[in-house]
Amino acid sequence: MTPRHLPRYLAGMSRIALLIVAAGSGTRAGGDVPKQFQSLAGTSVLRRSLDAFAYRDDIAATQIVIGSGHEDLFRKATDGLKLLAPVAGADTRSHSVFHGLQALSVQKPDFVLIHDAARPLISRALIDRVIAALENGADAAIPLLPVADTLKTRNEGQWKTVPRDGLLRAQTPQGFRFDAILAAHRKFGHESVTDDMAMAELAGLKIEAVAGEERNLKITTQDDMAFAEKLLGGNAEFRTGMGFDAHRFVAGDHVWLCGVKIAHDKTLEGHSDADAGLHALTDALLGAIGAGDIGQHFPPTDPKWRGANSAQFLEHAMSLLREKGGALINADVTLICEKPKIGPHREAMRARVAEILNVDASRVSVKATTTEGMGFTGRNEGLAAQALVTVRLGTP
Ligand code: MG
Repeated sequence: MTPRHLPRYLAGMSRIALLIVAAGSGTRAGGDVPKQFQSLAGTSVLRRSLDAFAYRDDIAATQIVIGSGHEDLFRKATDGLKLLAPVAGADTRSHSVFHGLQALSVQKPDFVLIHDAARPLISRALIDRVIAALENGADAAIPLLPVADTLKTRNEGQWKTVPRDGLLRAQTPQGFRFDAILAAHRKFGHESVTDDMAMAELAGLKIEAVAGEERNLKITTQDDMAFAEKLLGGNAEFRTGMGFDAHRFVAGDHVWLCGVKIAHDKTLEGHSDADAGLHALTDALLGAIGAGDIGQHFPPTDPKWRGANSAQFLEHAMSLLREKGGALINADVTLICEKPKIGPHREAMRARVAEILNVDASRVSVKATTTEGMGFTGRNEGLAAQALVTVRLGTP
């Protein structure tokens, strides 16, 4: 990797560098890659953090600190962006930041914004506040928030309540006069601190507080990830599928409809149990996820499916939906026939379909209609079924 950034000065504007700390190896947010490389509603956490700053024309250089072995993840997450070649992190956050500051020193920026990659929901207003404070003469500009929860501590088995008056939570981006924070890191790099404001404190820099934002949360756990997705409105996608099926009546004494056996003076002809209701529903589910049709999954030419219970076809379609992380919102089946009468069996059908799909019965509807004596269903030559389903893919 070589630096691709071309230095540029914008007339009358200060020269700002962005330093993103993405060297963590934490996987508490789930998955097998560190959280900053995980997908947050379809875009990696790191990429979202970078994109959040992209509107500032005066950010002249962006330096990212990454963990060793994360080069490929970094390349994938930052594809197409103009960034300085990443530098390797160190054993502590502050040492990692120091590496980044040293790499940036050749750029000679006026200011540097140091931001945790794990805070992807940073707003433009907050970034603007930090930069404005620096341009107004502060050595350091730090977003702070009050503590709302009551704080507890336990020492040798003894609980204690910590007065929260005056306590504040520090967020990032923390902005600094570049020379001042680099000097502070050089001088106090041996100190064990967890943010850069602490370096500014040690160095006696002029610190200005700006209002932080609850939304600017640091993603650490799986809960944080889910909460951040909620704040982003999720990436849920809703899809609809439809299915239709018809089977012919032949001599017999029962029919299977929507998984329920009903006594009748005829039966339905078919390779399987000829349950047109479940077949239409299976096709609707397959249709919603673009997974072909029932004939492709269970060819009527395959003797394996002779007389088969159609519940397994529907179960299979549902398992394909679940494999995609999807969920059924609702299923609506219409049975079209003169006979048998569906009304007396409707609730049993709803319950059985819900059981097969493993969803609440309130998500399943079974309706029936005749065709007023017209057509093949009107002449009792057979019956037909239609089904419509709505499914959700992705995270709400
Ligand atoms: Mg069929």
